[in-house]
Amino acid sequence: MIVTKSRETVEQIFRDIFGCDPLLVRSPGRVNMIGEHTDYNLGFVLPAAIEKAIYFAVSPRTDDTCRIVSVDMNDTIDVTIRQLHKSPKGWPNYLLGVIDQLSCAGYSFPGFNCVFGGDIPIGAGLSSSAAVEAGLAFSLNHLFSLGISHIELVKIAQKAENEFVGVKCGIMDQYVNIFGARDRLLKIDCRSLEYEYIPFAFDNVSIVLLDTCVSHSLASSEYNQRRKECAEGVSILRSEYGAIHSLRDATLDTVREMRTRMGDVIFRRCKFVVEENDRVARGCAALQEGDLRTFGQLMYQAHEGLRSEYDVSCRELDYLVALSGSHSDIYGARMMGGGFGGCTINLMDTGAVERFGATAMEAFTSTFGHEMKMYVTTISAGTHVLTNDEHAAI
Ligand code: ADP
Ligand code: MG
Repeated sequence: MIVTKSRETVEQIFRDIFGCDPLLVRSPGRVNMIGEHTDYNLGFVLPAAIEKAIYFAVSPRTDDTCRIVSVDMNDTIDVTIRQLHKSPKGWPNYLLGVIDQLSCAGYSFPGFNCVFGGDIPIGAGLSSSAAVEAGLAFSLNHLFSLGISHIELVKIAQKAENEFVGVKCGIMDQYVNIFGARDRLLKIDCRSLEYEYIPFAFDNVSIVLLDTCVSHSLASSEYNQRRKECAEGVSILRSEYGAIHSLRDATLDTVREMRTRMGDVIFRRCKFVVEENDRVARGCAALQEGDLRTFGQLMYQAHEGLRSEYDVSCRELDYLVALSGSHSDIYGARMMGGGFGGCTINLMDTGAVERFGATAMEAFTSTFGHEMKMYVTTISAGTHVLTNDEHAAI
């Protein structure tokens, strides 16, 4: 039996504090292979759950108190259900938002004890926030037999982040947290919310994340700005083509046709989104043929679009992608996530990982004057209850 340190730690701390057996739930982080900034444009994304995860240990109480212990923040909060207030500490809001959304949706349950923590790097773009939200929603659903469907849990977790935390994220992160599966990517249609699994199990191929360790302050204002620009593009397209309700409905031809009315900025945003949706479709077809070279080229094209048309990259990300591009054992690389920092995602031959990692670290540090980090990751199961002989499922 393989047991991760995180799971053991969380379980042990729970037993030490509360003196009983908890329900244990594993809630993963995620990567997104391709399909960036397409989710809020109701297009396609191709994420996967990864082996880095947050572990929840929970048990019911007989009163209305929720005692929540964050192992990673070394902090504890006590709150009363139905008397929830936004916390100035930050981290509790990701959990309080879930309790709040469950209550708003009419689910009633008593208080609970909860210890949680894990090994998803925080704020690196691997969606530790969705792992917290969806992990708690899933845990409470199971603990109190609330009978909530998986898709409903996804929506509750997303709303928790939208409304209680105040981040207008799309649905991808919470979706893949719940529906992810081992050795499979999840192609999500962000309009219909239907999904399809795309097998991803290649021998001797590794998914490597290079973390720039920067988070430029532009990130959230520019994210909101991009959403506005896309909406503006849609309203221009719609004035001519009534059937266009989102960039998902637009084609490259219609976008080109409206270029003058859009102006340069809106045109480039719309063009990128339409092309990125197409790249997801072509990427899935390539993977189904086992063609990693083509898939990798699509990753490079996605990065180029994010850099020069969507304008959400930064020097550090561009540097790392260019570095990957000069290595033949790397299939593809691109920035991942909202942009202006965070990680690049790289697909490469496993045999090349160590040497490339060492070269990249050295080159990055001497160029930018600070270190970067590297995470080698594998595709794992979505959120689920852990049994004693777990890890067969991961
Ligand atoms: P990410 O890209 O990792 O999702 P976010 O900024 O969206 O970054 O979310 C990070 C926030 O989520 C943290 O600042 C913290 O409030 C909360 N969080 C994430 N992981 C943990 C954890 N292990 N323990 C406590 N809070 C966490
Ligand atoms: Mg997040």
